[in-house]
Amino acid sequence: MESTEFLIVGCGPAGGTAAREAARRGVATIVLERDAVVGAKRVCAAGLRPGFCEDFDLPRAIVHLDPPTITLTTVKRTYAFQVGPSHTTTREELDGTIAALAGHEGAEIRTSTLFRGLRRERDGVVVEYADTKAGTRRAIRARSVFLAQGSSARLDEVDPRFRHPGWSAGLITCLQYRVYPERPAVPRTYSTLEMHYYVSPRSGRNVIAWMFPKRDHLSIGLGIQAKIPGADLRAELDAFLATVQERLFAGVPYTIRTEGNLLYGGLPRAGIGADGVMVGGTAAGLVDATTGEGIYEAATSGRIAADAVAATRKAGPRDPGAVRSSAPPPAAHDDARTQACSLRCAVRSARAHTAVRRTAPARSQCILADGMDVSLWSGGQVLAVRLAGVIPRLPCCVSSSIVSSGCSSCSSPSPW
Ligand SMILES: Cc1cc2nc3c(=O)[nH]c(=O)nc-3n(C[C@H](O)[C@H](O)[C@H](O)COP(=O)(O)OP(=O)(O)OC[C@H]3O[C@@H](n4cnc5c(N)ncnc54)[C@H](O)[C@@H]3O)c2cc1C
Repeated sequence: MESTEFLIVGCGPAGGTAAREAARRGVATIVLERDAVVGAKRVCAAGLRPGFCEDFDLPRAIVHLDPPTITLTTVKRTYAFQVGPSHTTTREELDGTIAALAGHEGAEIRTSTLFRGLRRERDGVVVEYADTKAGTRRAIRARSVFLAQGSSARLDEVDPRFRHPGWSAGLITCLQYRVYPERPAVPRTYSTLEMHYYVSPRSGRNVIAWMFPKRDHLSIGLGIQAKIPGADLRAELDAFLATVQERLFAGVPYTIRTEGNLLYGGLPRAGIGADGVMVGGTAAGLVDATTGEGIYEAATSGRIAADAVAATRKAGPRDPGAVRSSAPPPAAHDDARTQACSLRCAVRSARAHTAVRRTAPARSQCILADGMDVSLWSGGQVLAVRLAGVIPRLPCCVSSSIVSSGCSSCSSPSPW
Protein backbone atom coordinates (compact mmCIF):
# COMPACT_ATOMS: atom_id res chain seq x y z
CA MET A 1 0.00 0.00 0.00
CA GLU A 2 1.16 3.52 -0.75
CA SER A 3 2.34 5.44 2.31
CA THR A 4 3.27 8.95 3.33
CA GLU A 5 4.19 10.84 6.47
CA PHE A 6 1.42 13.43 6.45
CA LEU A 7 -1.92 13.12 4.72
CA ILE A 8 -4.26 16.10 4.54
CA VAL A 9 -7.89 16.03 3.51
CA GLY A 10 -9.13 19.26 1.93
CA CYS A 11 -7.13 22.02 0.28
CA GLY A 12 -8.84 25.10 1.70
CA PRO A 13 -6.88 27.63 3.78
CA ALA A 14 -6.48 25.09 6.62
CA GLY A 15 -5.33 22.10 4.53
CA GLY A 16 -3.31 24.16 2.05
CA THR A 17 -1.42 26.00 4.79
CA ALA A 18 -0.74 22.75 6.65
CA ALA A 19 0.62 21.22 3.44
CA ARG A 20 2.81 24.17 2.60
CA GLU A 21 4.30 24.52 6.05
CA ALA A 22 4.83 20.79 6.62
CA ALA A 23 6.43 20.27 3.19
CA ARG A 24 8.67 23.27 3.78
CA ARG A 25 10.06 21.41 6.77
CA GLY A 26 10.76 18.32 4.70
CA VAL A 27 7.70 16.30 5.75
CA ALA A 28 6.45 14.04 2.93
CA THR A 29 2.95 15.44 2.42
CA ILE A 30 -0.03 14.47 0.27
CA VAL A 31 -3.29 16.44 0.05
CA LEU A 32 -6.57 14.92 -1.08
CA GLU A 33 -8.88 17.53 -2.59
CA ARG A 34 -12.38 16.72 -3.81
CA ASP A 35 -12.54 19.45 -6.45
CA ALA A 36 -10.81 19.24 -9.81
CA VAL A 37 -9.40 22.76 -9.41
CA VAL A 38 -8.38 23.96 -5.96
CA GLY A 39 -10.56 26.84 -4.75
CA ALA A 40 -12.66 27.06 -7.91
CA LYS A 41 -15.87 26.03 -6.18
CA ARG A 42 -15.36 27.77 -2.85
CA VAL A 43 -18.09 30.22 -2.00
CA CYS A 44 -16.83 33.03 0.10
CA ALA A 45 -16.87 36.80 0.34
CA ALA A 46 -13.09 36.41 0.68
CA GLY A 47 -12.40 39.42 2.85
CA LEU A 48 -8.98 38.98 4.44
CA ARG A 49 -7.88 40.45 7.70
CA PRO A 50 -5.24 43.18 7.27
CA GLY A 51 -1.81 41.62 7.38
CA PHE A 52 -3.01 38.23 6.16
CA CYS A 53 -0.64 38.08 3.19
CA GLU A 54 2.33 39.03 5.35
CA ASP A 55 1.42 36.63 8.16
CA PHE A 56 1.08 33.74 5.74
CA ASP A 57 3.76 34.81 3.32
CA LEU A 58 1.44 35.18 0.34
CA PRO A 59 1.98 37.42 -2.69
CA ARG A 60 0.13 40.73 -2.76
CA ALA A 61 -0.91 39.81 -6.31
CA ILE A 62 -3.89 37.90 -4.89
CA VAL A 63 -5.31 41.09 -3.36
CA HIS A 64 -8.03 42.69 -5.44
CA LEU A 65 -8.75 45.78 -3.36
CA ASP A 66 -7.80 47.25 0.00
CA PRO A 67 -11.02 48.91 1.16
CA PRO A 68 -10.20 51.26 4.03
CA THR A 69 -13.67 51.16 5.60
CA ILE A 70 -16.43 48.81 6.52
CA THR A 71 -20.00 49.93 7.02
CA LEU A 72 -22.47 48.10 9.19
CA THR A 73 -26.05 48.93 8.26
CA THR A 74 -29.03 48.20 10.48
CA VAL A 75 -32.63 49.15 9.94
CA LYS A 76 -31.98 52.47 11.63
CA ARG A 77 -28.63 53.64 10.37
CA THR A 78 -25.19 52.95 8.98
CA TYR A 79 -22.02 52.86 11.05
CA ALA A 80 -18.67 53.37 9.38
CA PHE A 81 -15.40 51.98 10.70
CA GLN A 82 -11.88 52.56 9.51
CA VAL A 83 -10.39 49.13 8.97
CA GLY A 84 -7.38 49.96 7.19
CA PRO A 85 -6.88 48.49 4.94
CA SER A 86 -8.52 45.10 4.73
CA HIS A 87 -8.07 42.99 1.62
CA THR A 88 -10.47 41.35 -0.75
CA THR A 89 -9.62 38.47 -3.04
CA THR A 90 -11.27 35.36 -4.47
CA ARG A 91 -10.95 31.84 -3.17
CA GLU A 92 -9.68 30.45 -6.46
CA GLU A 93 -6.76 32.86 -6.16
CA LEU A 94 -6.22 32.43 -2.43
CA ASP A 95 -6.60 28.65 -2.20
CA GLY A 96 -5.00 28.14 -5.63
CA THR A 97 -1.97 30.20 -4.63
CA ILE A 98 -1.53 28.44 -1.30
CA ALA A 99 -1.80 25.06 -3.08
CA ALA A 100 0.72 26.10 -5.73
CA LEU A 101 3.15 27.26 -3.05
CA ALA A 102 2.63 24.02 -1.15
CA GLY A 103 3.47 22.19 -4.39
CA HIS A 104 6.67 24.21 -4.75
CA GLU A 105 7.65 23.12 -1.26
CA GLY A 106 7.22 19.50 -2.32
CA ALA A 107 3.66 18.66 -1.21
CA GLU A 108 1.64 16.58 -3.63
CA ILE A 109 -1.88 17.93 -4.22
CA ARG A 110 -4.19 15.25 -5.59
CA THR A 111 -7.32 16.86 -6.99
CA SER A 112 -10.54 14.99 -7.85
CA THR A 113 -10.03 12.76 -4.84
CA LEU A 114 -12.79 12.19 -2.35
CA PHE A 115 -12.08 11.21 1.24
CA ARG A 116 -14.18 8.19 2.22
CA GLY A 117 -13.00 7.15 5.66
CA LEU A 118 -10.08 6.00 7.76
CA ARG A 119 -9.02 3.22 10.07
CA ARG A 120 -6.18 2.93 12.53
CA GLU A 121 -3.62 0.20 12.08
CA ARG A 122 -0.50 -0.66 14.04
CA ASP A 123 1.78 1.31 11.80
CA GLY A 124 -0.32 4.33 11.02
CA VAL A 125 -3.67 5.57 9.82
CA VAL A 126 -5.10 4.12 6.62
CA VAL A 127 -7.16 6.61 4.66
CA GLU A 128 -9.54 5.46 1.96
CA TYR A 129 -10.46 7.73 -0.90
CA ALA A 130 -12.06 7.68 -4.31
CA ASP A 131 -10.16 8.90 -7.33
CA THR A 132 -13.14 10.40 -9.10
CA LYS A 133 -11.32 10.96 -12.37
CA ALA A 134 -10.08 7.38 -12.66
CA GLY A 135 -13.22 5.95 -11.02
CA THR A 136 -11.15 3.89 -8.61
CA ARG A 137 -11.02 3.46 -4.86
CA ARG A 138 -7.63 3.73 -3.17
CA ALA A 139 -6.00 3.56 0.22
CA ILE A 140 -2.96 5.28 1.59
CA ARG A 141 -1.17 4.80 4.90
CA ALA A 142 -0.06 7.92 6.77
CA ARG A 143 1.75 8.59 9.99
CA SER A 144 -0.38 11.66 10.68
CA VAL A 145 -3.65 12.84 9.19
CA PHE A 146 -5.15 16.33 9.15
CA LEU A 147 -8.85 16.52 8.34
CA ALA A 148 -9.76 19.93 6.92
CA GLN A 149 -12.72 19.34 4.67
CA GLY A 150 -14.76 22.33 5.80
CA SER A 151 -18.38 22.62 6.89
CA SER A 152 -19.45 19.49 4.97
CA ALA A 153 -17.23 17.25 7.12
CA ARG A 154 -19.10 14.23 8.52
CA LEU A 155 -16.74 13.49 11.34
CA ASP A 156 -19.12 11.57 13.60
CA GLU A 157 -18.77 8.72 11.14
CA VAL A 158 -14.98 9.02 11.10
CA ASP A 159 -14.36 8.87 14.85
CA PRO A 160 -16.93 9.12 17.66
CA ARG A 161 -14.45 11.23 19.60
CA PHE A 162 -14.98 14.00 17.08
CA ARG A 163 -18.75 13.91 17.54
CA HIS A 164 -20.48 17.28 17.88
CA PRO A 165 -24.18 17.15 18.75
CA GLY A 166 -24.68 20.84 17.99
CA TRP A 167 -22.98 20.83 14.59
CA SER A 168 -26.08 21.18 12.40
CA ALA A 169 -27.51 23.93 14.57
CA GLY A 170 -24.35 25.95 13.99
CA LEU A 171 -24.66 25.96 10.23
CA ILE A 172 -25.63 29.15 8.41
CA THR A 173 -27.15 28.78 4.95
CA CYS A 174 -25.58 31.21 2.49
CA LEU A 175 -26.18 32.30 -1.05
CA GLN A 176 -23.95 34.68 -2.93
CA TYR A 177 -23.89 36.30 -6.35
CA ARG A 178 -20.79 37.41 -8.11
CA VAL A 179 -22.14 40.46 -9.85
CA TYR A 180 -20.25 41.70 -12.90
CA PRO A 181 -21.51 45.20 -13.82
CA GLU A 182 -20.84 46.19 -17.41
CA ARG A 183 -19.54 49.54 -16.20
CA PRO A 184 -17.91 50.34 -12.86
CA ALA A 185 -20.22 51.07 -9.96
CA VAL A 186 -20.08 54.44 -8.18
CA PRO A 187 -16.58 55.09 -6.78
CA ARG A 188 -17.48 54.63 -3.10
CA THR A 189 -18.38 51.00 -3.86
CA TYR A 190 -14.70 50.13 -4.09
CA SER A 191 -13.57 51.70 -0.84
CA THR A 192 -16.00 50.00 1.53
CA LEU A 193 -16.94 46.54 2.69
CA GLU A 194 -20.65 46.58 3.43
CA MET A 195 -22.52 44.48 5.98
CA HIS A 196 -26.29 44.70 6.45
CA TYR A 197 -28.45 43.30 9.24
CA TYR A 198 -32.20 43.12 8.99
CA VAL A 199 -35.21 40.98 9.60
CA SER A 200 -36.62 39.60 6.38
CA PRO A 201 -40.07 40.97 5.56
CA ARG A 202 -40.63 37.68 3.67
CA SER A 203 -39.68 35.08 6.29
CA GLY A 204 -39.33 37.05 9.51
CA ARG A 205 -35.84 35.59 9.90
CA ASN A 206 -32.66 37.45 10.75
CA VAL A 207 -30.59 38.12 7.67
CA ILE A 208 -26.94 39.02 7.45
CA ALA A 209 -26.03 40.36 4.02
CA TRP A 210 -22.87 41.76 2.49
CA MET A 211 -21.34 43.51 -0.48
CA PHE A 212 -17.60 43.02 -0.83
CA PRO A 213 -16.01 44.78 -3.82
CA LYS A 214 -13.51 42.97 -6.03
CA ARG A 215 -11.40 44.01 -8.98
CA ASP A 216 -13.97 43.07 -11.62
CA HIS A 217 -17.07 42.10 -9.67
CA LEU A 218 -19.01 42.56 -6.44
CA SER A 219 -19.61 39.69 -4.02
CA ILE A 220 -23.18 40.21 -2.92
CA GLY A 221 -24.57 37.57 -0.61
CA LEU A 222 -26.45 36.73 2.53
CA GLY A 223 -26.69 34.14 5.27
CA ILE A 224 -29.55 32.86 7.42
CA GLN A 225 -28.93 30.57 10.36
CA ALA A 226 -31.49 27.94 9.42
CA LYS A 227 -32.21 25.43 6.71
CA ILE A 228 -34.41 27.21 4.21
CA PRO A 229 -35.57 26.26 0.72
CA GLY A 230 -33.30 27.39 -2.12
CA ALA A 231 -36.08 29.38 -3.83
CA ASP A 232 -36.74 31.40 -0.67
CA LEU A 233 -33.04 32.09 -0.23
CA ARG A 234 -32.79 33.25 -3.81
CA ALA A 235 -35.82 35.55 -3.44
CA GLU A 236 -34.19 37.01 -0.36
CA LEU A 237 -30.93 37.64 -2.19
CA ASP A 238 -32.68 39.09 -5.25
CA ALA A 239 -34.43 41.59 -3.00
CA PHE A 240 -31.13 42.56 -1.37
CA LEU A 241 -29.36 42.80 -4.72
CA ALA A 242 -32.02 45.22 -5.96
CA THR A 243 -31.29 47.57 -3.05
CA VAL A 244 -27.55 47.41 -3.68
CA GLN A 245 -27.99 48.04 -7.37
CA GLU A 246 -30.18 51.05 -6.73
CA ARG A 247 -27.48 52.63 -4.56
CA LEU A 248 -24.30 51.58 -6.34
CA PHE A 249 -24.87 50.72 -9.99
CA ALA A 250 -28.32 51.95 -10.90
CA GLY A 251 -29.12 51.44 -14.56
CA VAL A 252 -25.91 49.51 -15.24
CA PRO A 253 -26.50 46.11 -16.88
CA TYR A 254 -24.79 43.20 -15.15
CA THR A 255 -24.32 39.46 -15.27
CA ILE A 256 -24.24 37.19 -12.24
CA ARG A 257 -22.73 33.91 -11.16
CA THR A 258 -24.60 32.17 -8.36
CA GLU A 259 -22.81 30.45 -5.49
CA GLY A 260 -24.13 28.72 -2.38
CA ASN A 261 -22.51 27.19 0.67
CA LEU A 262 -22.69 26.66 4.41
CA LEU A 263 -20.96 28.83 6.93
CA TYR A 264 -20.29 27.54 10.44
CA GLY A 265 -21.15 29.67 13.43
CA GLY A 266 -21.28 27.37 16.45
CA LEU A 267 -18.98 26.03 19.12
CA PRO A 268 -15.85 24.04 18.27
CA ARG A 269 -15.81 20.26 18.52
CA ALA A 270 -14.86 19.06 21.98
CA GLY A 271 -12.31 16.62 20.56
CA ILE A 272 -10.15 17.57 17.60
CA GLY A 273 -7.15 15.27 17.95
CA ALA A 274 -6.97 11.51 18.51
CA ASP A 275 -4.59 8.69 17.59
CA GLY A 276 -2.69 10.30 14.77
CA VAL A 277 -5.62 12.30 13.41
CA MET A 278 -6.16 16.01 13.93
CA VAL A 279 -9.10 18.08 12.72
CA GLY A 280 -8.70 21.74 11.69
CA GLY A 281 -10.36 24.79 10.19
CA THR A 282 -14.12 24.80 9.78
CA ALA A 283 -14.28 21.00 10.10
CA ALA A 284 -13.11 21.39 13.70
CA GLY A 285 -15.48 24.25 14.38
CA LEU A 286 -12.43 26.44 14.97
CA VAL A 287 -13.82 28.89 12.48
CA ASP A 288 -16.76 30.63 14.03
CA ALA A 289 -18.54 33.09 11.86
CA THR A 290 -20.21 34.65 14.88
CA THR A 291 -17.00 35.78 16.52
CA GLY A 292 -15.01 36.91 13.53
CA GLU A 293 -13.14 33.69 12.89
CA GLY A 294 -12.69 32.75 9.25
CA ILE A 295 -9.91 32.22 6.77
CA TYR A 296 -7.27 33.50 9.16
CA GLU A 297 -8.19 31.01 11.86
CA ALA A 298 -8.44 28.15 9.37
CA ALA A 299 -4.94 28.90 8.07
CA THR A 300 -3.67 29.20 11.64
CA SER A 301 -5.01 25.76 12.51
CA GLY A 302 -3.18 24.39 9.46
CA ARG A 303 0.01 26.01 10.65
CA ILE A 304 -0.44 24.46 14.10
CA ALA A 305 -0.98 21.03 12.54
CA ALA A 306 2.18 21.38 10.45
CA ASP A 307 4.14 22.47 13.54
CA ALA A 308 2.88 19.43 15.41
CA VAL A 309 3.76 16.99 12.65
CA ALA A 310 7.21 18.48 12.15
CA ALA A 311 7.85 18.37 15.91
CA THR A 312 6.76 14.73 16.13
CA ARG A 313 9.01 13.91 13.21
CA LYS A 314 12.03 15.34 14.96
CA ALA A 315 11.21 13.18 17.96
CA GLY A 316 11.75 10.09 15.75
CA PRO A 317 9.50 7.32 14.51
CA ARG A 318 6.85 6.12 16.85
CA ASP A 319 6.97 2.66 18.26
CA PRO A 320 4.24 0.75 16.46
CA GLY A 321 4.19 -1.95 19.11
CA ALA A 322 3.22 0.51 21.76
CA VAL A 323 -0.09 1.09 20.03
CA ARG A 324 -1.17 -2.30 21.32
CA SER A 325 -0.40 -1.53 24.92
CA SER A 326 -3.11 -0.35 27.26
CA ALA A 327 -1.22 2.86 27.94
CA PRO A 328 -2.25 5.91 25.86
CA PRO A 329 -0.83 5.30 22.36
CA PRO A 330 2.12 7.50 21.40
CA ALA A 331 0.55 8.31 18.05
CA ALA A 332 1.67 11.52 16.46
CA HIS A 333 -1.12 13.70 17.72
CA ASP A 334 -1.20 12.30 21.18
CA ASP A 335 2.14 13.68 22.20
CA ALA A 336 2.07 16.47 24.68
CA ARG A 337 2.98 19.14 22.21
CA THR A 338 0.21 18.25 19.83
CA GLN A 339 -2.33 18.10 22.56
CA ALA A 340 -1.18 21.51 23.68
CA CYS A 341 -1.58 22.80 20.15
CA SER A 342 -5.05 21.36 19.83
CA LEU A 343 -5.93 22.80 23.15
CA ARG A 344 -4.63 26.19 22.14
CA CYS A 345 -6.95 26.17 19.16
CA ALA A 346 -9.90 25.12 21.25
CA VAL A 347 -9.14 27.54 24.05
CA ARG A 348 -8.68 30.45 21.72
CA SER A 349 -11.97 29.74 20.11
CA ALA A 350 -13.72 29.36 23.44
CA ARG A 351 -12.12 32.58 24.61
CA ALA A 352 -13.52 34.35 21.63
CA HIS A 353 -16.99 33.18 22.55
CA THR A 354 -16.53 34.36 26.09
CA ALA A 355 -15.23 37.70 24.95
CA VAL A 356 -18.23 38.29 22.79
CA ARG A 357 -20.61 37.25 25.52
CA ARG A 358 -18.86 39.37 28.11
CA THR A 359 -19.44 42.60 26.27
CA ALA A 360 -21.23 44.53 29.04
CA PRO A 361 -19.12 47.27 30.56
CA ALA A 362 -15.80 46.31 29.05
CA ARG A 363 -13.55 49.16 28.07
CA SER A 364 -13.12 47.56 24.70
CA GLN A 365 -16.76 47.95 23.93
CA CYS A 366 -18.59 50.69 22.24
CA ILE A 367 -22.35 50.47 22.36
CA LEU A 368 -24.14 51.92 19.44
CA ALA A 369 -27.52 53.51 19.47
CA ASP A 370 -29.86 50.80 18.30
CA GLY A 371 -28.69 47.78 20.16
CA MET A 372 -25.68 46.87 18.06
CA ASP A 373 -22.70 46.29 20.19
CA VAL A 374 -19.16 46.09 19.03
CA SER A 375 -16.40 44.42 20.96
CA LEU A 376 -12.73 44.18 20.32
CA TRP A 377 -10.63 41.25 21.31
CA SER A 378 -7.67 39.18 20.26
CA GLY A 379 -5.11 41.82 21.12
CA GLY A 380 -6.93 44.46 19.13
CA GLN A 381 -6.68 42.45 15.95
CA VAL A 382 -10.29 41.63 15.45
CA LEU A 383 -13.46 43.52 15.86
CA ALA A 384 -16.33 41.20 16.59
CA VAL A 385 -19.72 42.64 16.06
CA ARG A 386 -23.19 41.59 16.90
CA LEU A 387 -26.62 43.00 17.04
CA ALA A 388 -27.73 42.36 20.58
CA GLY A 389 -31.29 41.19 20.71
CA VAL A 390 -31.89 41.61 17.01
CA ILE A 391 -29.30 39.39 15.43
CA PRO A 392 -27.29 37.51 17.99
CA ARG A 393 -24.75 36.04 15.61
CA LEU A 394 -22.80 37.46 12.75
CA PRO A 395 -20.58 35.94 10.09
CA CYS A 396 -16.87 36.31 9.98
CA CYS A 397 -17.13 38.11 6.69
CA VAL A 398 -17.71 41.24 8.68
CA SER A 399 -15.53 40.91 11.59
CA SER A 400 -12.45 39.07 10.51
CA SER A 401 -11.68 41.93 8.22
CA ILE A 402 -11.72 44.68 10.74
CA VAL A 403 -9.02 46.34 12.70
CA SER A 404 -10.62 49.26 14.39
CA SER A 405 -9.16 52.66 14.83
CA GLY A 406 -12.15 53.81 16.78
CA CYS A 407 -15.81 54.09 16.11
CA SER A 408 -16.66 56.90 13.76
CA SER A 409 -20.31 56.83 14.76
CA CYS A 410 -20.10 57.36 18.51
CA SER A 411 -16.52 58.73 18.65
CA SER A 412 -15.35 56.06 21.06
CA PRO A 413 -11.58 55.87 20.78
CA SER A 414 -9.90 52.63 19.87
CA PRO A 415 -9.13 50.85 23.11
CA TRP A 416 -5.79 49.60 21.83
C1 LIG B 1 -20.68 32.73 1.92
C2 LIG B 1 -19.43 32.74 2.77
C3 LIG B 1 -18.71 33.90 2.94
C4 LIG B 1 -17.53 33.91 3.71
N1 LIG B 1 -16.81 35.04 3.79
C5 LIG B 1 -15.65 35.07 4.51
C6 LIG B 1 -14.83 36.24 4.53
O1 LIG B 1 -15.14 37.26 3.91
N2 LIG B 1 -13.70 36.21 5.28
C7 LIG B 1 -13.32 35.10 5.98
O2 LIG B 1 -12.28 35.13 6.64
N3 LIG B 1 -14.06 33.97 5.93
C8 LIG B 1 -15.22 33.92 5.21
N4 LIG B 1 -15.97 32.78 5.16
C9 LIG B 1 -15.54 31.62 5.94
C10 LIG B 1 -14.44 30.88 5.22
O3 LIG B 1 -14.94 30.43 3.99
C11 LIG B 1 -13.96 29.71 6.09
O4 LIG B 1 -13.52 30.23 7.30
C12 LIG B 1 -12.77 28.98 5.43
O5 LIG B 1 -13.08 28.59 4.14
C13 LIG B 1 -12.42 27.75 6.24
O6 LIG B 1 -11.34 27.09 5.62
P1 LIG B 1 -11.14 25.51 5.71
O7 LIG B 1 -9.85 25.22 5.06
O8 LIG B 1 -11.36 25.04 7.08
O9 LIG B 1 -12.35 24.88 4.88
P2 LIG B 1 -12.80 25.11 3.38
O10 LIG B 1 -12.33 26.40 2.86
O11 LIG B 1 -14.25 24.83 3.35
O12 LIG B 1 -12.02 23.98 2.58
C14 LIG B 1 -12.36 22.63 2.66
C15 LIG B 1 -11.78 21.91 1.45
O13 LIG B 1 -12.01 20.52 1.62
C16 LIG B 1 -12.49 19.97 0.39
N5 LIG B 1 -13.29 18.78 0.71
C17 LIG B 1 -14.52 18.73 1.28
N6 LIG B 1 -14.91 17.46 1.43
C18 LIG B 1 -13.91 16.69 0.95
C19 LIG B 1 -13.74 15.29 0.83
N7 LIG B 1 -14.66 14.41 1.23
N8 LIG B 1 -12.58 14.82 0.27
C20 LIG B 1 -11.62 15.69 -0.14
N9 LIG B 1 -11.74 17.04 -0.05
C21 LIG B 1 -12.87 17.52 0.50
C22 LIG B 1 -13.30 21.10 -0.22
O14 LIG B 1 -13.44 20.92 -1.63
C23 LIG B 1 -12.45 22.31 0.15
O15 LIG B 1 -11.47 22.60 -0.82
C24 LIG B 1 -17.12 32.73 4.37
C25 LIG B 1 -17.85 31.57 4.19
C26 LIG B 1 -19.00 31.56 3.40
C27 LIG B 1 -19.75 30.26 3.22
